[in-house]
Amino acid sequence: MTATPKRYAHFIDNRAAEAGDGGTIPVMDPSTGEIFAEIARGSAAEINRAVTSARLAYDGASVADGAWGRFSALERGRVLRRWADAVDAHAEELAQLESRDTGKPLRQARADAAALARYFEFYSGAADKLHGQTLPYQAGYTVFTVREPHGVTGHIIPWNYPMQIFGRSVGAALAAGNACVVKPAEDACLSLLRAAELAAGCGLPAGALNIVTGLGPEAGQALAEHPGIDHISFTGSTVTGKRVAQAAAEHHCPVTLELGGKSPQIVFADADLETALPVLVNAIIQNAGQTCSAGSRVLVERPIYDAVLERLAEKFRALVAGPASADLDLGPLISPRQLQRVGAYLHEARAQQIHVLAQGSIASDAPAGGCYQVPVLLADVPAGHRLAQEEIFGPVLAVTPFTSEVDAVRIANGTPYGLIAGVWTGDGARQMRLARVLRAGQVFINNYGAGGGVELPFGGVKASGYGREKGFEALYGFTTLKTVAVRHG
Ligand code: NDP
Repeated sequence: MTATPKRYAHFIDNRAAEAGDGGTIPVMDPSTGEIFAEIARGSAAEINRAVTSARLAYDGASVADGAWGRFSALERGRVLRRWADAVDAHAEELAQLESRDTGKPLRQARADAAALARYFEFYSGAADKLHGQTLPYQAGYTVFTVREPHGVTGHIIPWNYPMQIFGRSVGAALAAGNACVVKPAEDACLSLLRAAELAAGCGLPAGALNIVTGLGPEAGQALAEHPGIDHISFTGSTVTGKRVAQAAAEHHCPVTLELGGKSPQIVFADADLETALPVLVNAIIQNAGQTCSAGSRVLVERPIYDAVLERLAEKFRALVAGPASADLDLGPLISPRQLQRVGAYLHEARAQQIHVLAQGSIASDAPAGGCYQVPVLLADVPAGHRLAQEEIFGPVLAVTPFTSEVDAVRIANGTPYGLIAGVWTGDGARQMRLARVLRAGQVFINNYGAGGGVELPFGGVKASGYGREKGFEALYGFTTLKTVAVRHG
């Protein structure tokens, strides 16, 4: 007998809020294809309820009445600290939930739960260190700046790293004093609904954090269009990001966009390959390549090109995809839709005689209904080809040779994106030159991604978006600066 799918409601006003007229959406386990839960399908009505609840929490009269907007920075930090501890205490439960919901291997889901707690810990400590400045001005004046929260912030979260992206976005927004309305991706909501329940037990007042589940074009669009939203942070595709920014512009709402990339790793002939090679592979198979900062292009200097390809191929052949619970090299993709999307790129590669140098395998006992994609290594991919230009969002690595430093920079900067870049070289002067000329929000020298980097400002240029999340910098994005000039003679 098949178990009845568990139902998950919206989270509004610190309690479960049942689905309205919109009904429910089934939740699939990407490892098996089994429907194991259902979520509420929110519409403009639920978004409106959530925004109203957040507005009341933000504008309320006193802390005693649960007005988040009146909490001192110290009190906000203490709530976040308790939430960090609660997430830590429930880390395994959250990891299991997210692993089943998204198909990510358990060790990755555990790392994501730890990162969620770490974001709240970081922003708990940062809350009372955010301050303005005094400015020199004419005699007889005292001028200072004050950092104020926007008010009610909207957060549109994608499915690839729900806990991490929720943590970095909501953690910073709450620390800065905003009240939040979150729209997670319909493919990955469950861990966030549970994390929100934990917050309610940590002293976060009703309305300070609300989650409305549902479809992007319905609940997501309604959030972006809502005139009661004072700031939106969005992570996802370039196309949807543009749509969100256009909707927000209609009500003069500032937006932070994190839109993914086609991030290069540049390997010079003097690179320490023993260190570099495992990192090059991990940067594309982590989360089955469904990572905004995936190192999806590797550029290799000609003299070592064949040797690097050979060693990468050996590693790719050993990679195995399988169910999240088996904790293999990679799990399934998030959905049949994403599997089909990645498959279409690979079909094109084969049709156009792009060199498929090596691929991994799928575990023989992987359930037939799962969304498995073998990792694929493509060699000699022309720099201008779609496979070297577009975000595939799957475990597909494109390798391209280069002849000189100038050539490497031209290829690295030659896509519409600019999120992150990696450089592998022992030459100190070259490290500095490349750090400056690469067009990206983050540049890593002889490492890649720096372990997730809760403390490190993150975001892109060009089609990768604008605004910065993570680190202290995010607090500037979630506040607005007021200048006060006092004339006192
Ligand atoms: P989307 O950009 O469409 O989805 C991201 C988020 O936006 C989800 O919460 C989604 O909700 C929501 N959304 C969708 N449409 C709207 C809308 N009209 N208004 C407001 N919010 C909306 O990405 P996809 O899931 O379609 O993935 C497609 C591709 O996007 C991927 O292959 C990848 O290349 C890229 N992507 C990049 C990510 C990154 O981290 N930078 C993350 C995810 C995807 P819902 O899912 O419920 O529709």
